[in-house]
Amino acid sequence: MNAPMQGHQGLERAIRNAMLIDGAWCQAASGETFAVFDPASGSEIARVPAGAQADIDAAVAAARRAFEGAAWRDTLPAQRERLLLKLADLVEQHGEELARLETLNNGKLLAHSQGMEVPGAVQWLRYMAGWATKIEGSTLEVSVPFPPGTRYSAMTRRAPVGVVGAIVPWNFPLLMAVWKIAPALACGCTVVLKPAEETPLTALRLGELALEAGFPPGVLNVVTGDGVPGAALVAHPGVDKITFTGSTEVGRLIGARCGQDIRRVALELGGKSPVIVLDDCDPAMAIQGAAGAIFFNQGQVCTAGSRLYVARKHYEQVVEGLGRVADATVLGSGFDPASQMGPLVSSRHRDKVMGLIGGGRAEGAEIVAGGTALEREGYFVRPTVVANSACKDLTLVREEVFGPVVVAMPFDDPEAVLAEANRSEYGLGASIWSNNLRAVQRLVDGLHAGTVWVNTHNVVDPNLPFGGYKASGVGREHGRSAIDAYTELKSVCMAY
Ligand code: NAD
Repeated sequence: MNAPMQGHQGLERAIRNAMLIDGAWCQAASGETFAVFDPASGSEIARVPAGAQADIDAAVAAARRAFEGAAWRDTLPAQRERLLLKLADLVEQHGEELARLETLNNGKLLAHSQGMEVPGAVQWLRYMAGWATKIEGSTLEVSVPFPPGTRYSAMTRRAPVGVVGAIVPWNFPLLMAVWKIAPALACGCTVVLKPAEETPLTALRLGELALEAGFPPGVLNVVTGDGVPGAALVAHPGVDKITFTGSTEVGRLIGARCGQDIRRVALELGGKSPVIVLDDCDPAMAIQGAAGAIFFNQGQVCTAGSRLYVARKHYEQVVEGLGRVADATVLGSGFDPASQMGPLVSSRHRDKVMGLIGGGRAEGAEIVAGGTALEREGYFVRPTVVANSACKDLTLVREEVFGPVVVAMPFDDPEAVLAEANRSEYGLGASIWSNNLRAVQRLVDGLHAGTVWVNTHNVVDPNLPFGGYKASGVGREHGRSAIDAYTELKSVCMAY
């Protein structure tokens, strides 16, 4: 256990205690605020406005004015590209500050904020900037026979969908915000962003950098608060599209409301991703791969490899090796370079994870490593390995924990493991560890997952579509799919 370091000193200037509506910093109409915490110490680091209906009304009105009145939708694509590139440059220039802010607010390792989250945000902004000038439709042949002698020219065009309400979770606060705003802005939409109540700080700083980059007032608004402003945004008649990343439970509510109002909606939800280790895989590689798949970001990853299926031949060795990795993991503040795992995001989330581990114990799960929270300040839970050679129906195998908890299970037959892997309400990610091409390809064919990785896990790229089967969501982000998601397809048919 390391002594926490004061790596967040000097961040005071980067912390915004106001929200961004129509290019101006403001407090909530109610005047209410809520506290934001450092998960490594449990201490309060900021108070931000508690947005509600009136603030969402103001933000949506500003976004609507910017979209229509101020004609953001009619800006030249090259202008939107230039602004997004400028924002990417600013995020890069302020990368160290943003990385520290993210670690302070979320708890994740500083090395991950510096090496993945902030560079990822820059990469996505630059990639989506490129799309602004490449949005295209098709020319089409039609076969309309009347009036005689008339000919037709037909095409499709893509138009920005309008005002987008973007609601994001706390696990990658900056990156998730960029995953939404970058393609939306590239397409000519305006945005009301609602960060998670646990982690609003980098989203607010992103809004400030967008102003500095030259985005006009109202094009990007950031309203802080919990599910109250979130639900107000979802139900707002002035919003054309909701894009949500978060839990399946909240996703169901949002999907239902958007269905009722016939509002466009994209949902990126929970997961229970299987990691499948075939019998030709080197056990050392499997141990390393499985540890990375579940313990990265304290397991707070929607595609975390939380169900580990290992060919029986390697099962004991892999479980033992994974247990050793878990036991040896150094927990501590994300600012301490010696730390290998930070805290969970909040006391509430720690209690939820500990509750699920306790429930697993009560159901007879064998805890091979971890299974306890650290008795100190901050919200630390030890990386936990559960061996489950008998009971396939543990709650821990079915329910998303969203923490550093993996359940390992042996298998004998690759056909049977495919059925087990698919026996989940979720279908976000999966990984296969093997060089047996035939076996790998058959699993790739059969897995119900939006992303299948082979000999890797949790790899994402702005050009690679991402989203879920089944209860893991509706729609795909990234690549061309993101452009489709933030545009309406308009068919044009001209007689001549
Ligand atoms: P959450 O659903 O509790 O909250 C997500 C966001 O929704 C927050 O901003 C929250 O304030 C807001 N919200 C809460 N209630 C709302 C309501 N009724 N209406 C509108 N908005 C509301 O999720 P979380 O705990 O912050 O995040 C963890 C979950 O997110 C996990 O289930 C995880 O798998 C999922 N997730 C999915 C992906 C993906 O791409 N599929 C990525 C990251 C996280």
